Amino acid sequence: MGYGERGRRAPVVDLADRRALEAYRPADPAVVEEARRLKEAALLDFGLTESAVASWLYAKCHHQIPTTAVDTAAVVASGDGTCLLLYNPDFFVGLGLAGVKFVLFHEARHLVHRHLLADPELRDDPVFTLAAEVAVNHVALIRLGREELPLLDGRPTGVDPRKVYDAYTEDLTAHGLEPVTYETFIATDMGVYAELKRMRHPPVPDERLCVHMVAGAVPADQETIDAVTSSALLNSLLAARRGNRARSGSCWS
Ligand SMILES: [Zn+2]
Repeated sequence: MGYGERGRRAPVVDLADRRALEAYRPADPAVVEEARRLKEAALLDFGLTESAVASWLYAKCHHQIPTTAVDTAAVVASGDGTCLLLYNPDFFVGLGLAGVKFVLFHEARHLVHRHLLADPELRDDPVFTLAAEVAVNHVALIRLGREELPLLDGRPTGVDPRKVYDAYTEDLTAHGLEPVTYETFIATDMGVYAELKRMRHPPVPDERLCVHMVAGAVPADQETIDAVTSSALLNSLLAARRGNRARSGSCWS
């Protein structure tokens, strides 16, 4: 899941090819080293306070790869039934430890919620992608005790659940409908999705959505995912990303 990505370029390497990822337009070795250190420090922290997060990332993402092939961070399914955690070294260094913790928590929540395996119709719907981001970031803010999204270059990065809720209440009220409370709205990802769908004009994400969320176009059961080759999966991902570029909106991860 490409957290909060803003870039529009399609990846130029196969995102499941680990060697190509390591080699792609390598970042400054010192930056890579610092990004790795931040990632490890964040995971160690989670081991003490949110051990489920570290467990999910270690159990599901055997390979954790710094690469400039993604603009932010992402978890993507690889062909062997595991996931890859990809992170842009400059992005992680720019975020600092607190921001890296937030983004890793975010990516782990996508795994916990099995968003990679959501029904293809859902994954094709940008409103669902936004709903997943809203739900994941809400949990991250609460569980990490944060007031704000992580800052990058002094600006919050990622989808702000409260801003999306404000847009939702404004839309429903303007059309004579009764919005649910924030607590009800935010309780589950599918709940967020259902409520956003009540809007006359459901929001289109204005930042690139998570990479994982556009990895669609493959059947959603685990067996099939396992059987699909990584190149086929990634080809569909790249096609989806290219398609997304035509739209005005998109997100992170
Ligand atoms: Zn995401």
